[in-house]
Amino acid sequence: MSLIVQKFGGTSVGSTERIAAVASRIKRTREEGHDVVVVVSAMSGETDRLIRFAREIDPDPSPRELDVLLATGEQVTIALLSMSLLRLGCDARSYTGGQVLIRTDTAHTKARITRIDESRIREELGRSRVVVVAGFQGVDLDGNITTLGRGGSDTTAVALAAALDAHECQIFTDVDGVYTADPRIEPQARRLPFLVYEEMLELAGGGAKVLQIRAVEFASKYDVRLRVLSSFDEGEGTLIMPDDDSMEQPLISGVAYSRDEAKLTVLGVPDKPGIAYRTLGPISDANIEVDMIVQNVSRDGNTDMTFTVHRNDFERAMDILRANCRDMAAREVIGDDRIVKISLVGVGMRSHAGIASRMFKALADEGINIQMISTSEIKISVVTDERYLELAVRALHSEFGLGSDQAENGGPRVRELQAGRA
Ligand code: ASP
Ligand code: MG
Repeated sequence: MSLIVQKFGGTSVGSTERIAAVASRIKRTREEGHDVVVVVSAMSGETDRLIRFAREIDPDPSPRELDVLLATGEQVTIALLSMSLLRLGCDARSYTGGQVLIRTDTAHTKARITRIDESRIREELGRSRVVVVAGFQGVDLDGNITTLGRGGSDTTAVALAAALDAHECQIFTDVDGVYTADPRIEPQARRLPFLVYEEMLELAGGGAKVLQIRAVEFASKYDVRLRVLSSFDEGEGTLIMPDDDSMEQPLISGVAYSRDEAKLTVLGVPDKPGIAYRTLGPISDANIEVDMIVQNVSRDGNTDMTFTVHRNDFERAMDILRANCRDMAAREVIGDDRIVKISLVGVGMRSHAGIASRMFKALADEGINIQMISTSEIKISVVTDERYLELAVRALHSEFGLGSDQAENGGPRVRELQAGRA
C-alpha cells in the first residue's frame, strides 16, 4: 500500500459537479489500495475575485490581511470536497494549512515553506481517512496565516509528498500532460510520457505554464516523482523524475515560448568595472526580474548592454533606466516590448554538438531574424519579433522531429516506457 498525494487545480474544482467528479477519482485511487492525501486550489477565478475585493477597498492592501482573505478560497474547496467524499462513503477530513502545521516564513503573499509536521496527517491516514489539505497556505511561527504566491498549491502538494515520503505526487490539471510544444500553435505536438526535472524547469522558465517553477524545484531537491495528468480525461499523463543515465535521452524534449517579454538596451556606456552593476542594480532593487543579459564588445571604450524583463515590468524598467541615464553615462536608452522568447529544451543536448546551428538554420530558412541568444547546458533560447512566434515554434518542432508522425526523436524512451521499464 503506497501513499499518493493528489493535487487538483482551480478548473478541476471549478464547480460542485467538478468537485463531485474529483471525489470519484479520489475514491477510485483509494479502492486501488492507496493511501491518499489531497491538496486543492480555490475554485477557478476565486482568488482573482478576492484580490479584486481587496483592491476595491485599498489599491495596496495590507499583505497580512490579503493572506487572511486569500486563504478562504482554498478553505471552501477542502470542505466541499470532503463532503463529497463522505457522501460517496469515502471517509475524509479537511484541514487548513495551519491545522496540519505547514510552517512558512513570514513573507506574506510569497511565503516559503520551512517545515511540515506530518503527525496529524499520519494519524488520519492511520484511521483510513483521505486527508484533504488546503493548498497555497501555511502559518508562520506566530500563527499568522500566510500564502505561497500565485499557483502555490502545486508547491504545497510537492512539499507534502516530500514530507510524507509519498510514492508519487500527481498534479491534476486541465491538460493531459506536458507536450512537445503548445498544441494550440503546433497541432503536431505530442504528449511526453516523461521528462527529467531539469527539462521541466527549463520548459517552465521558457514559458510553458503547466506547473509552478517552485514546485518543480522542490520536487527535484527532494526527489519527488511528479506526474502531471488531466482531471477531465483518463491517461498516464507525463512523469517528471530524476535524470537516469540508464535511459536513452531524446535529443530535444520540447519547444517552449513566452510572449511576456520585453527588451531594454543601454547604448554607449563606458566599458568600466561596475557598469553592469550600475545598469542592473536599480532594476533589481525595484524587484524587477531580469532574464537574458547581453553585453557587447566595446569600441572606443564604450559598450552596449541589452537585457530582457517581463512585459508587465517594461515601462517601469524603462523609467528607471531613463532616470539613471546620466549616472550610467549612457548615450541613449531604447526598448522594445514586441518581442518573444522561443526555447529549445532537452537533456540530450549535453552530449550532442551542432544543435544550436541546426536551430539557427531552421529559423533562417523561414526568414526569421534572431535578436538575442542565450544558452544553458540543456536549453537554447532566442528572442525574435513577436510576429514570428508561431512560425518559429512550428519550424523548430519540425526540424527536430518532435511531431507525432516523426520518429527521429523520443522513440527509444517512448518504447522503453511502453515496455514498462520506466
Ligand atoms: N488559488 C491560488 C491561485 O489561484 C493558488 C493555486 O491555485 O495554486 O493562485
Ligand atoms: Mg489557481
